[in-house]
Amino acid sequence: MVQIFLDGQAYDCGPGENVLDALLRQDVALSFSCKKGVCQSCLMKVDAGEAPAAAQEGLRDTLREQGYFLPCVCRPSTALKISRPDDAAAYLPARVLAVEPLAETIRRVFFEPSAAFQYRAGQFVNMRRRDGLARTYSLATVPGQEPFPGVDVKLMPGGRMSNWVFDGLTPGTALDIQGPNGACYYVPDRPDQPILMIGNGSGLGALAAIARDALAQGHTGPIDLYHGTRYPAGLYLRGELALLAETAANFRYHPCVSGPEAGDGQRAARADDAAFADHPDLTGRRIFLCGHAPMVNGAKRAAYLAGADLADIYADPYELQDRRHDHAA
Ligand SMILES: Cc1cc2nc3c(=O)[nH]c(=O)nc-3n(C[C@H](O)[C@H](O)[C@H](O)COP(=O)(O)OP(=O)(O)OC[C@H]3O[C@@H](n4cnc5c(N)ncnc54)[C@H](O)[C@@H]3O)c2cc1C
Repeated sequence: MVQIFLDGQAYDCGPGENVLDALLRQDVALSFSCKKGVCQSCLMKVDAGEAPAAAQEGLRDTLREQGYFLPCVCRPSTALKISRPDDAAAYLPARVLAVEPLAETIRRVFFEPSAAFQYRAGQFVNMRRRDGLARTYSLATVPGQEPFPGVDVKLMPGGRMSNWVFDGLTPGTALDIQGPNGACYYVPDRPDQPILMIGNGSGLGALAAIARDALAQGHTGPIDLYHGTRYPAGLYLRGELALLAETAANFRYHPCVSGPEAGDGQRAARADDAAFADHPDLTGRRIFLCGHAPMVNGAKRAAYLAGADLADIYADPYELQDRRHDHAA
């Protein structure tokens, strides 16, 4: 048992227990979402003591240097004095500029950060409402190609943030943004390398932006983008991607419908199944995976077994918050 000191109080953290679960168990109200060290929305700061290195994995070096860590993957062996993130360091005020309907269940939210905000297409941000609810969204715009950053939000049944976005989020609404985070973006080090992209649901937004970014940076190798949905109504950016395929000879777009209604020009298959059937040997290929966590985690394994180098696999599983045992965060 080790002690965690927060807001002048002492809490205990059991053997093998992570700091987030320990504090939630003792009814401390905290922001969190994926509980897997992915979304970084539970970010906190160590003021005294040392967090294990694993608790800082994936954090920007500037945050690591300041002692920030992720309580959801922090299993300390010695006592820690911690504090909530200093808003100024962690969050940037922003305001909504536009909410664009892209499909029945997808909205693109453009926002204007109140200060310089440098990002790469495909990285993600934590978007926090003024009542403290925070969720993670991937950047579906390309700096230099779009004047303002934007994220694609998919409507989730009973989902708090996504329903808020769909139920009339308006331009001018104030938000706070943390980030950019994540490594799922294009690096122009091997311009002729074949690239395979697989996404489902709103994962398309990030992938299409990464593809446009790569092409704008002179990527010459083939780029195949597979986007999957259950019904044709879930496909989006079709016109934009068809045009991209016409203008960039090395870009191919593969719309996939896994339900019974695949239309003309659409593969009647899951996107990952279609991609692996078309590309059984992935040796030397760069892989980008975005969307529902089960698909992304499964495709990551399958890509590795098909010969892709782990260092060449960029995956962002959209881990949902497990709301069955709501801690109201
Ligand atoms: C790295 C990363 C990137 C992401 N990028 C994107 C992105 O670009 N676009 C995007 O749309 N999403 C993205 N997500 C997911 C996003 O962060 C949210 O999890 C998602 O929008 C759902 O949030 P919500 O508040 O609407 O739903 P929540 O309120 O968090 O609900 C989550 C799920 O629980 C279910 N649920 C609700 N109530 C209950 C209940 N009582 N019992 C059981 N289940 C319940 C809901 O149906 C929903 O499926 C990303 C996540 C991560 C980790």
